[in-house]
Amino acid sequence: MQLIVRRARRRGTAEPCDIGIAEGAIVAVAPVIGDRAAREIDAGGRLVTPPFVNPHVHLDKARLGEVMRPNRSQTLQEAIEITWDFKRTYPEADIVARAGAVIEMGVREGALAVRAFADVGTVGGLVPVRGLLALRARYADLVRIQVVAFPQEGLLRDPGAETLLREAMALGADVIGGLPWYEMTDEDARRHVDIVFAIAREHDADVHMLVDDTDDANSRSLEYLAVKTLREGYGGRVSASHCGALAAYNDTYAAKVIGLVKDAGITIVSNPHISLVLAGRRDREPVRRGITRVRELLRAGVNVASGQDDVDDPYYPFGRASQLEVALFAAHAAHLTYPDELETVFDMVTVNAARAMRLPRYGLEPGCAGDLLVWDAPGVKEALTRQRPPSHVVRGGAVVAQTTVTSELITSGAGAA
Ligand SMILES: [Zn+2]
Repeated sequence: MQLIVRRARRRGTAEPCDIGIAEGAIVAVAPVIGDRAAREIDAGGRLVTPPFVNPHVHLDKARLGEVMRPNRSQTLQEAIEITWDFKRTYPEADIVARAGAVIEMGVREGALAVRAFADVGTVGGLVPVRGLLALRARYADLVRIQVVAFPQEGLLRDPGAETLLREAMALGADVIGGLPWYEMTDEDARRHVDIVFAIAREHDADVHMLVDDTDDANSRSLEYLAVKTLREGYGGRVSASHCGALAAYNDTYAAKVIGLVKDAGITIVSNPHISLVLAGRRDREPVRRGITRVRELLRAGVNVASGQDDVDDPYYPFGRASQLEVALFAAHAAHLTYPDELETVFDMVTVNAARAMRLPRYGLEPGCAGDLLVWDAPGVKEALTRQRPPSHVVRGGAVVAQTTVTSELITSGAGAA
């Protein structure tokens, strides 16, 4: 065998087990594996999980925070304009360099699958999508990257974007994006959804839209997206991110929309740390949290995932490409703190996100890809609390990253202040 992880504690199981990997795939999970492997890792009863999956991140904008001018008006509008300034001139190689640094940061944190959004529109043309396609090729052996062709300035609002979107898909983008709520009218928002589905059909592509990313209860594109998904028979292939307006709807209408989302088989991707920062800015007290109805969606049986969204860009100044950090934010922002709920937030950055990206052979069963994380923690709660990277990140049976954390308390002994 290529690799055996010994005494691994899988989530939901009391007894440690050995996990054996051969030719890039998990071939054995047993209390004790008698064979020897070229490399062995003794997990010593610590937690072992499948890798993190980040279903939503804007890698074309990542780390612009290091070089951008200050946002003097401290508004979202100026953040958008700062991004335009870059998009008018930045070269493909610049995107690959910045995005590559984030991919490598993410691998150290255990993210082996990433859905990366590339702006497509008349401001930046196809440069971002070309950059992220080059990135996908460069890191193909390390990370599964899906590139989303994303119309950041709208389709009806940005004449020419529809043609560019088709070209982006023809270039090889994996997923078709959308931003219906950003259009000028409800009519245009529906037309936007229709255009995206037409292109999705042409390329047999999955759909991932940013939906109702606003506190405005009049923003109702999630309802139309759900109905469209049902009518197109596209269940399981559509994700909707943010959906902040769902939190602002009255409970009766919200329940109806959640029912439609469930029936349509749409994944909701909530990026709660970003929503906490960007939503509710115009509220006087009490200020809304801006998080979509995560608990209600989960209770209804909807697949809910969480992503990093932004890494040090004009929209958000932080981000370590750590899905463990994202999960911790989700626990706080969505009120998920009881033991079974902590397992749920871990699902949101692992198995639920993998379902959104339709990753094959994901898990820790024989037949799954030989990808896993060994944690310096006995369980999910401790991993979330400690916020340390995995001690070992394994892809295809090979250790691709490892982290050792050392800390020493220097004290003069009892009574030291
Ligand atoms: Zn986003």
